[in-house]
Amino acid sequence: MIDHATIERILDAAEISDVVSEFVTLRKRGVNMLGLCPFHNEKTPSFTVSPAKGIFKCFGCGKGGNSVNFIMEHESLSYPEALKWLAKKYSIEVAEEEETEEQKQLKDERESLMIVSGFAQKFFSRFLWEENEGRTIGLSYFRERSFRDETMKKFEVGYAPDGKTPFTDAALKQGYKIDFLEKTGLTIKREDWLRDRFAGRVIFPIHNLAGRVIAFGGRILKDDKKTAKYLNSPESEIYHKSKVVYGIYQAKREMTRTDKAYLVEGYTDVLSMHQAGIENVVASSGTALTAEQIRLVRRFTPNITIIYDGDAAGIKASLRGIDLVLEEGMNVKVLLLPDGEDPDSFAKKMGASAFLEYIKEHETDFIRFKTQLLMKDTENDPIARARLISDVIRSVAVIPDSITRSVYIKDCSNLLGVDEEVLYNEVRKQKQKQNDDFQKRETREQQSRPAPKVAITATPVPSGFETEELEFLRFLLKHANALIYFKEKDSDEKVAVSVKDFMVAEIEEDELVSENPLFQKIFYEMADNIENEAFDSWKYFIYHPNGEVSKLATDLLSDKYIESKRWTKAGAFTEKEEDILDLLIPRIVNEYKLSKVKAMLSGIEKAIDEANAAGDFERVIEEQSLYMNLKRVEKSLSSQLGNRIIN
Ligand SMILES: [Zn+2]
Repeated sequence: MIDHATIERILDAAEISDVVSEFVTLRKRGVNMLGLCPFHNEKTPSFTVSPAKGIFKCFGCGKGGNSVNFIMEHESLSYPEALKWLAKKYSIEVAEEEETEEQKQLKDERESLMIVSGFAQKFFSRFLWEENEGRTIGLSYFRERSFRDETMKKFEVGYAPDGKTPFTDAALKQGYKIDFLEKTGLTIKREDWLRDRFAGRVIFPIHNLAGRVIAFGGRILKDDKKTAKYLNSPESEIYHKSKVVYGIYQAKREMTRTDKAYLVEGYTDVLSMHQAGIENVVASSGTALTAEQIRLVRRFTPNITIIYDGDAAGIKASLRGIDLVLEEGMNVKVLLLPDGEDPDSFAKKMGASAFLEYIKEHETDFIRFKTQLLMKDTENDPIARARLISDVIRSVAVIPDSITRSVYIKDCSNLLGVDEEVLYNEVRKQKQKQNDDFQKRETREQQSRPAPKVAITATPVPSGFETEELEFLRFLLKHANALIYFKEKDSDEKVAVSVKDFMVAEIEEDELVSENPLFQKIFYEMADNIENEAFDSWKYFIYHPNGEVSKLATDLLSDKYIESKRWTKAGAFTEKEEDILDLLIPRIVNEYKLSKVKAMLSGIEKAIDEANAAGDFERVIEEQSLYMNLKRVEKSLSSQLGNRIIN
């Protein structure tokens, strides 16, 4: 039980953006802050923090609440546990009774596993620093490798005493349950026999983002060919290898600050680089790199440099996994160390500034690296060479950003001696294939969902807007990045163009941008982002700092003003609009143009009347010729719309 006054002190201290920033990199957006949601997988930020209201809210997955809710959700803690977590962060003292045997049992399993792991870490550390065996074997190992005390303490390394069960005995004696010792893998249990998993090894605790110990890596010091040099905790309720990178807790602040992360292989690589003064470094520690690990790093920075040992045999094998780094929109570089060096030895030899200098000079783009590496094998072998080209193209095609893509294509063209145009064609084919696969998946998912209800009655149009303007904006915002295909004049070939590109260009060319200031704001801000493929119009406009823009975008995107007559006219009741954009977008644009032309025509009619009344016949003739021209435009637009209806 935590008393009321203490709870209030904690809530006062736990400022939402400060708490969230422990785990998520936030950027200012108007009065709010925006970041990548830690609760669902996303590439563009929809996770909003409102310091004024003291809350967070994710537009993507719907999670929201105050700072205590955030910690509960993020760290899988109960309410009192989350309060304690925050109390610790803000150095607020919470009086707590000694835990009884019963209370220890009652805690839910995850928490119990973390508590046992925390106990083990302290036990191993104490043993390293204070016990004879720990000092002569463990500590001397670290000292021989010139690790300083502060580095060892920062990573909370330790030593597990040799023997059958010295650790398990101590844990049981403290009242920790064998069940949890077994589930964390600290103790190996068979029938009627127990064994300490890490006996006789130096220990590298693995921390989660919040700094709690969730698993261990242990290195054997004896020269024993039969046992693995490194041993890790097994998977458990609190430790999923594929979702964890070693050192993230110690690296996260520096990754944010420098907007860069280094990825190495081993625990000691991480420690050595920290000691040399390079703290934005993590290790995949024993697993091949996974997408989840990448996403974890990506929360702090999109810039990652993978550092390989010069003689690492596994480089080629690991290359395959790295496409997914590109796919996540990360900016990947690769650094190959000189033969015989690893980050550990190299950092010790060079020190921070020389190491960083070396990285800057020698890191290369991932694709260039891959191409050069594979090219050595394909000399004089045309088939292997063709395979290499398509392999490299596959990597290029997954890069989400088109500018980055074209830089890579230029590079590859030079390296491989293949025409850029040929490479572009290959990339296009690959992308089309990736899109098709994606669409098939989407369609399958859509089919398994119940069909959405189409709103039949439209909410009255907000004042100052024509229906056509709202429909125009709705399609522009909703489908901005979708591709539509249409035949260009004098050509049989179909061209693909993004909806935003098409809609903006059509209206700008004809100088028919609405006079409505809100329309103009959205229209021109969209126009500014035409080249930006990653531009997420939904989030951008829904979270727009201008309240009117954000309100209108929310209404439009929630289909508040959906116009039912369109669907009857198009005879397309059964179609989803996203499936027939090729047909709908030109219609929407034409209807918008037509309404603008009609408004202009009635303006001219009025002007002609006025001029007539004033006897200004010169003006009458002028206006009339303008009127005739616009009438022709009107007729052409109407007939295009009519034709499409017949089609
Ligand atoms: Zn979310």
